[in-house]
Amino acid sequence: MRFSAEFTRHLGAAGFIGMTWPKEYGGAERSAFDRYIVTEELLAVGAPVRGHWVSDRQTGPVLLKFGTPEQKRKYLPAMARGEHFFALGLSEPDAGSDLSAMRTKADKVEGGWLVSGTKVWTTNAHNSQSLLVFCRTSPPTEDRHHGFSQLIVPIPTPGLTIRPIINIAGEHDFNEITLDNVFVPEENLVGTLGNGWGQVNAELAYERSGPERWMSAYRLLAELSAVRPKNRSDAWDSALGRLYSHLLTLRQMSISVAAMLEAGQSPMLEAAIVKDLGTCFEQDLVQVAADLVHVEGLTAEDAPNLFEVLGHGRMWSVAFTIRGGAKEIMRGVVARGMGLR
Ligand SMILES: Cc1cc2nc3c(=O)[nH]c(=O)nc-3n(C[C@H](O)[C@H](O)[C@H](O)COP(=O)(O)OP(=O)(O)OC[C@H]3O[C@@H](n4cnc5c(N)ncnc54)[C@H](O)[C@@H]3O)c2cc1C
Repeated sequence: MRFSAEFTRHLGAAGFIGMTWPKEYGGAERSAFDRYIVTEELLAVGAPVRGHWVSDRQTGPVLLKFGTPEQKRKYLPAMARGEHFFALGLSEPDAGSDLSAMRTKADKVEGGWLVSGTKVWTTNAHNSQSLLVFCRTSPPTEDRHHGFSQLIVPIPTPGLTIRPIINIAGEHDFNEITLDNVFVPEENLVGTLGNGWGQVNAELAYERSGPERWMSAYRLLAELSAVRPKNRSDAWDSALGRLYSHLLTLRQMSISVAAMLEAGQSPMLEAAIVKDLGTCFEQDLVQVAADLVHVEGLTAEDAPNLFEVLGHGRMWSVAFTIRGGAKEIMRGVVARGMGLR
């Protein structure tokens, strides 16, 4: 998940960003499965994909579905070339799981809106050219989901400040963003005014079910498989076998959700199941790797690559079950989808 503008540009030039988008918007009109395979391969080798990740996965599809022809022409080809990156402005200091509690507001003025509020945990905003802001465009009513819209805010722009948040791994990956009367022109409204809730939910199915939900620690599994401890115990083999069988099952489930998205369905429940199981699997993987290394008495000298990815995984795994929607929330989505609440 590292950022490399150069790598992303190369990937764009090779036609591997926006692969499923129409050719007129810089895409390659390939199938969702072609894109899926490329995504898996990038994750398997730990490629530095941070730059285009959000644009390719969800902002592009959102603009294709809800954007105006001008927005499509302006953003999609540049995104497909790997030159324009989007960040997602959803979470706020007092609104994460419960997005309906969001307070960032857009007041109508001539020619556009004045947007004010604070966004937090905004991944890669410091390297992005646009922020897709979820905000209130009309006061709350009895329907808590009413009156939200999505606006494209250029970065930089007067009134917008980005402050780094350094994560537990000591890396600058996400940010806090303040918007102080930021002017956003009329043409930057995405979709229908007041329909932001429905649009964001459509977007979340893309965010929750892809291979990055169960493959972001894949390098660890690969390194674990490459190591041959001298007196390898049965525990080592059976733990690896178990991890691989879980991985393959998750892959089948995730591909099924991709097929539903491709067919134009909105698989919220199914995507939530994949995210919950996938991210718990990733956390287990890190714990199992740490236990095996301990049981087999391996040291960093025996397996330097394994220790490096294990250290990284230890630091990042706490985020796996939070980013993109906390696991408790996923279980709530599943329960609601099954008619249990
Ligand atoms: C690495 C990382 C990157 C991120 N990137 C972005 C980004 O680019 N853009 C963006 O907008 N956001 C981003 N986020 C934010 C992420 O979406 C939120 O952290 C997440 O939705 C949870 O919100 P919160 O942090 O406010 O926690 P809270 O909503 O305060 O939740 C705290 C705890 O309470 C539990 N909880 C809350 N409500 C309920 C409930 N109703 N029932 C049961 N349990 C509940 C939660 O499950 C959680 O365990 C990122 C987060 C991380 C960790």
